[in-house]
Amino acid sequence: MSDYEQQASEQLAKIHAAIARAAKIAGRKRDDIALIAVSKTHDAAAITPFIAAGQRVFGENRVQEAQAKFPALLDQFGPLELHLVGQLQSNKAADAVDLFHTIHSVDRESLINAIARASDQLGKRPRCFLQVNIGDEPQKGGCAIAALPALLATARDADLDIAGLMAVPPADTEAAPYFALVAKLARDHGLAGLSMGMTNDFETAIMLGATHIRIGSALFGGRS
Ligand SMILES: *Cc1c(COP(=O)(O)O)cnc(C)c1O
Repeated sequence: MSDYEQQASEQLAKIHAAIARAAKIAGRKRDDIALIAVSKTHDAAAITPFIAAGQRVFGENRVQEAQAKFPALLDQFGPLELHLVGQLQSNKAADAVDLFHTIHSVDRESLINAIARASDQLGKRPRCFLQVNIGDEPQKGGCAIAALPALLATARDADLDIAGLMAVPPADTEAAPYFALVAKLARDHGLAGLSMGMTNDFETAIMLGATHIRIGSALFGGRS
């Protein structure tokens, strides 16, 4: 095993132990929490050791960056599950539907329509999380909390495969109340999936019901 593989496997083991610990405290099944390794800004050479260490689920925040890295990795290593966690422009929806297993940033009607159209054309149906702007921050993606019921109805009418809700709480504040609010909104709308929790707050997110945590820097190191 190379040093890089050794390091990747240690980082992964640390996160898996932390996930298991948080799940146990919360009385949840470990298998109900998916670890998405967010590899944005890191090149294929940085991703490969994690694949070798057994990680198969990766997240990216830009369609073009993922298109540049993953087709070759898929050819080399076989099936990987790719998640788009960043904002998506409607004109990139077809590329996203083609490459990604799951899209976490569905936040407006025009994008729902673009994904539905691309799904029909390509015969692929990605899982979708509706992103909620849980801290009501103008610079962030996600629909307003008040707009969620209508957006969900639109997504269901368009026959999107809705996994649940995704959110990124405001930085530099206690995340727990926001996670609790996302969980309540999901419950109220009969949605099972909760994509929430990143490097700094994933244990809290697991305690509050996260089913998909999106971890970047704790695995890959910092981003420039
Ligand atoms: C970058 C990113 C992550 C990972 O963030 P870390 O703090 O590095 O774990 C998770 N979710 C989204 C939406 C991101 O853009």
